[in-house]
Amino acid sequence: MQPDVIIIGSGMGGASLAAALAPSGRRVVILERGERLADSPEARDPAAIFRRGFFKPRETWRDVSGAPLHPGNYAYVGGNTKFYGAVLLRYRAEDFAPLRHIEGVTPGWPIGYDALEPYYSRAEQLYRVRGDAAQDPTEPPHSAGYPYPPVPDEPDIARLRAAFAAQGLHVSALPLGIDIAAWLKRAPTTWDAFPCTTGAKSDAESCGLAEALKHPNVTLMTGAKVTRILARGRRVTGVELERSHGRETLSAPVVVLCAGAILSSALLLASANDDHPRGLANGSDQVGRNFMNHNLTGMVAYNPFRRNRTVYEKTIQFNDWYVTGGPAGEPLGNVQMLGRITGPILAGEAGLPLWLARHIADRSIHIMAMSEDLPDPDSRVLWKNGEVVLDWRRTNTRAHDLLVKRLKQAMRRAGWPVTLARGFPKSKPSHQCGTARMGADPATSVVDVNLKAHDLDNLYLCDAAVLPTSAAVNPSLTVAALALRLGDHLSRSLA
Ligand SMILES: Cc1cc2nc3c(=O)[nH]c(=O)nc-3n(C[C@H](O)[C@H](O)[C@H](O)COP(=O)(O)OP(=O)(O)OC[C@H]3O[C@@H](n4cnc5c(N)ncnc54)[C@H](O)[C@@H]3O)c2cc1C
Repeated sequence: MQPDVIIIGSGMGGASLAAALAPSGRRVVILERGERLADSPEARDPAAIFRRGFFKPRETWRDVSGAPLHPGNYAYVGGNTKFYGAVLLRYRAEDFAPLRHIEGVTPGWPIGYDALEPYYSRAEQLYRVRGDAAQDPTEPPHSAGYPYPPVPDEPDIARLRAAFAAQGLHVSALPLGIDIAAWLKRAPTTWDAFPCTTGAKSDAESCGLAEALKHPNVTLMTGAKVTRILARGRRVTGVELERSHGRETLSAPVVVLCAGAILSSALLLASANDDHPRGLANGSDQVGRNFMNHNLTGMVAYNPFRRNRTVYEKTIQFNDWYVTGGPAGEPLGNVQMLGRITGPILAGEAGLPLWLARHIADRSIHIMAMSEDLPDPDSRVLWKNGEVVLDWRRTNTRAHDLLVKRLKQAMRRAGWPVTLARGFPKSKPSHQCGTARMGADPATSVVDVNLKAHDLDNLYLCDAAVLPTSAAVNPSLTVAALALRLGDHLSRSLA
């Protein structure tokens, strides 16, 4: 029987949308190219993950020079959230208006924080977020509290929290989707970049999808890779997919593309036809443009005379320089703990001998600076010769450099005198967003405020591609909130 809605991708956007649509009784089919991620010894083996890339898909993209790029992105049921750090932060209210940064002005959103707030609250319930909104002065208003109290700080992190507080910084609990007791039962590791195989991490599979699949009208098809979206005039007429037994075409009155910011825009471009020669939804030539990913720097702050005895580390953040930290009051960004970097992880990431990596990792503390990446039309995803090409231009680096400098000072004052900092490489577009942005003006955006493609009457996008700005917080909760909002809209319009 023909479904009412096809959702392409079961990650944060697709799974959350399915959860929102499920109670409507509409027949929903989710097409996911990956399979469910089964438990295995490698799931908690840092060497398998960080040195051997055990879970990485065997796919190659290109950078703009044509050099191969093996992306640190994942293709399983639940998408990239299977590996995410489960930091589930709201954008700050200020992020929705145009903001003057050191290197430019952000465009603002076509909706304000108030329009998304109820959906943030629902997303926090769905993803079982642990936190305390009262601890962070930059936290926007919440209509409902977090459903669970914060994940406890380990003693070494409690000491760091106190050391930051002594400097006047406002440290708060990271809002997290992790049931720490259940997570540690499987193995004593952190969870960032480790896949969840037990349901202890609130990811798209264990929360959004699990909720959706309680309803008999929702079906998940795994190993179903969409290769082309078919369209005539203003209507999508079907999707072509590859499965293990061959190719097939599926159609539905509504198609929602949720393949992730890079692959959604690539699929739109790859689906060019005579009616849409530049690719679908691309009358404005905006598809693939404004690619953003945050400026991210990981920091290893070392003291040869101290030990770090933490297992997971990732429980605190501060936003003192988020809104107005720059020299003329410009935003600088967010500071949050990385997951615990152990010897094998540092050896894999920095190419150090294991003994040296262990020595450093156990005598250091691990933290991250995150700054906004501004939309730049020349920073883009292209589709060339049947391959994804990522021409990623970094922006706003002066603000980020300043944030890193401030963080180094704070770490030194906190008793960690040697700071080694490294930017995340371009092979890890983990916070990718912005390639099909939401906007009221069809000339400068790809989807409207209801996430419908300006150019097509029955094609929606619902993943990180639609974010008009990257802000300087992790993107998933905002993707989930937008998906729940779209779920309400579609439930009403399909009724
Ligand atoms: C290591 C790591 C750590 C992270 N930590 C955090 C964090 O702490 N907090 C946070 O907010 N964010 C974090 N992120 C980012 C977060 O995972 C993404 O922002 C989020 O998953 C984006 O949701 P999405 O729906 O856009 O895409 P995804 O969740 O990636 O979902 C896309 C889905 O589409 C599927 N798909 C792609 N192409 C096709 C196709 N052609 N046919 C069928 N299916 C297809 C994919 O397999 C995938 O399941 C992290 C990411 C990584 C990699």
